[in-house]
Amino acid sequence: MCRYIFITSLFVLALSTQAEDLTSEQRSAIEFRIKPMGKVCLLGQTDCGSDLVATVSGGDAGSQSSDEKASSSAKSCSFDIEVGDSLQFNIEAMSVSASCKDIKVNLRHTGNMPASAMGHNWVLTKDSDSAEVASDGADAGMDSDYVKPEDARVIAYTPLIGGGESTSITFSFDKLDSNSEYIFFCSFPGHSFVMRGVLKIT
Ligand code: ZN
Repeated sequence: MCRYIFITSLFVLALSTQAEDLTSEQRSAIEFRIKPMGKVCLLGQTDCGSDLVATVSGGDAGSQSSDEKASSSAKSCSFDIEVGDSLQFNIEAMSVSASCKDIKVNLRHTGNMPASAMGHNWVLTKDSDSAEVASDGADAGMDSDYVKPEDARVIAYTPLIGGGESTSITFSFDKLDSNSEYIFFCSFPGHSFVMRGVLKIT
């Protein structure tokens, strides 16, 4: 039975090392789902009780809240992203499954400041295009959601929102190719330098 603890530890370790791009909160959410139940024994200990059971929860059996919490880190086609009255997305990376047909991004502004002062959007471009798209977006102004109209370099973007507002965008996976590197960012003037993250296809 001791072997179960050892295997569980290895499993958690493997998840931790493979998930370097996760925040500690997301990582602990995953680790919380893989927890030993019952007596805990040390490695090498032979008499460690017979009622030790390692459980792996998740899938359909998992609670809704933990599924939602892991949705941004697990392979997924739908992402819930939050922003507030600071220059920060609540995630630093998005892993999009190659099996996705469409990708949906739900953006929620949990702050209080208006869009004119602390507006945020979510813009996706190739890494190589991000700086120029952000610059052109700033020039385009707030009426254009700080995205240059008809900009072919923009793969997808949400409208600009302020505190208390939500928005979402759905785009086809066909717009992505697995050989390119993608960056998501907020194009509100000055925000893109820190409000940015990586979108990976897995
Ligand atoms: Zn912003």
